[in-house]
Amino acid sequence: MSLKLDGKKLSLEIEEKLKNYISFNERMAKRRPGLAVIRIGEDPASGVYVKNKEKACSRIGIKSYIYNLKDTVDQKEVEQLINKLNLDKNIDGILLQLPIPNKFHDQRLISNINPSKDVDGLNEHNIGKLVKNEDAMRSCTPAGIINLLRSQNIRIEGKKIVVIGRSLLVGKPLSLMLLNLNGTVTMTHSKTKNLIDICKEADILIAAAGKPNLINSSFVKEGAVIIDVGIHRLKTDDENKTRLCGDVLLEDVIPKVFAYTPVPGGVGPMTVTMLLVNTIISWQKQFGLSSTLNDLVP
Ligand code: NAP
Repeated sequence: MSLKLDGKKLSLEIEEKLKNYISFNERMAKRRPGLAVIRIGEDPASGVYVKNKEKACSRIGIKSYIYNLKDTVDQKEVEQLINKLNLDKNIDGILLQLPIPNKFHDQRLISNINPSKDVDGLNEHNIGKLVKNEDAMRSCTPAGIINLLRSQNIRIEGKKIVVIGRSLLVGKPLSLMLLNLNGTVTMTHSKTKNLIDICKEADILIAAAGKPNLINSSFVKEGAVIIDVGIHRLKTDDENKTRLCGDVLLEDVIPKVFAYTPVPGGVGPMTVTMLLVNTIISWQKQFGLSSTLNDLVP
């Protein structure tokens, strides 16, 4: 039987550690860790993601500061807010909830975040450090995937790993993290030729294309590990209902693989958990606290 890589379960286990870490260190730091989340506009999915992050913070003792901005604000005003948060001594992490309305230049806003508070690990400084395999804030979804693999002792070193997708959010940083851990990584994208043949070589196949059910069993080698990053909400036959699926046609693929991530309950919960980890590590560095959580950062 194939092994389910249960992100929900692992994220709860890590949350327990984080909660204990905060309660143990709070007295020394004289305050709890603080995370600022900036949301611009009314995108409903973003609203749900921000609420989930707020709830996760409160479960473990991080103080969250939520900024819901109207899309009538301009780039300058958001930059000013980020600059204010950069200087705020109660804030350890700043997250810009993506996507934001098109009129904003998202990468320029992310560049404004102080690298030590860039808990999404997306600004140039942190990406540059990742390229150089130096310690820095690591982006959450890729770091969550590495922790899921490690939790079941799935070896990365020496393995053939194919990543489908080359976005700055997932594919590129994930490929670099796996390379830094001595995987042999192939990054693929929408212009890749013979995708099926490349995927069939993979010991670990990671789908982050953002295309529902793109990957069926014909892409997968017998005994491989498959990680599904995609999240899609599809309508069901019943008009009023929807269901979540990933980039992988799981029912077709599961009988063939050694291990897989479910959707929901696989990569998604780990992304939120890594945001908490990054915020606490920024707090830890500011107050010189013990580094017992550092193993969670690849
Ligand atoms: P994205 O920015 O749209 O990037 C998608 C990437 O996939 C691009 O590099 C694209 O290639 C490539 N691609 C698209 N169609 C392809 C195909 N048919 N064959 C091969 N490559 C293809 O998306 P993203 O932000 O990386 O997110 C990917 C998925 O992960 C989405 O479903 C998103 O919702 C989900 N996601 C989940 C989490 C989580 O916590 N679970 C976090 C982040 C994202 P080109 O570069 O050539 O266009």
